[in-house]
Amino acid sequence: MSHNLETQPTTRTMAARLLPLNIQIIGVELAIAWNDGTESYIPLETFRRGCPCAACGGEPDVMGNLERPEVTYTQESFLLRGWQLVGGYALQPNWADGHGTGLYTFPYLRRLAAEAHPNTANH
Ligand SMILES: [Zn+2]
Repeated sequence: MSHNLETQPTTRTMAARLLPLNIQIIGVELAIAWNDGTESYIPLETFRRGCPCAACGGEPDVMGNLERPEVTYTQESFLLRGWQLVGGYALQPNWADGHGTGLYTFPYLRRLAAEAHPNTANH
């Protein structure tokens, strides 16, 4: 009996992982070019209002609770100072009002874009 155990984690080489190739602000939207050839456009206001951090409650919790906390936005809340990629799976924006704890996973960014532009959603 030969023990040919795989010690390395299995990597999916057939389906490439979703990664942003280019991210920029175009007008009032965040434009993301993905490595699968698609592009996402997310209005900055939609982007901020969809912040998934605990304080903003942008996504329903595991109990399906859609009740969101009161969040006060200012004009600066919808201005993006910058962003960073976190762990190769999420985007963490840095807003002009100082908020910066939201981690937007790449599939979530695509969902925000699809909801903002239902007519251009690609399937
Ligand atoms: Zn937030």
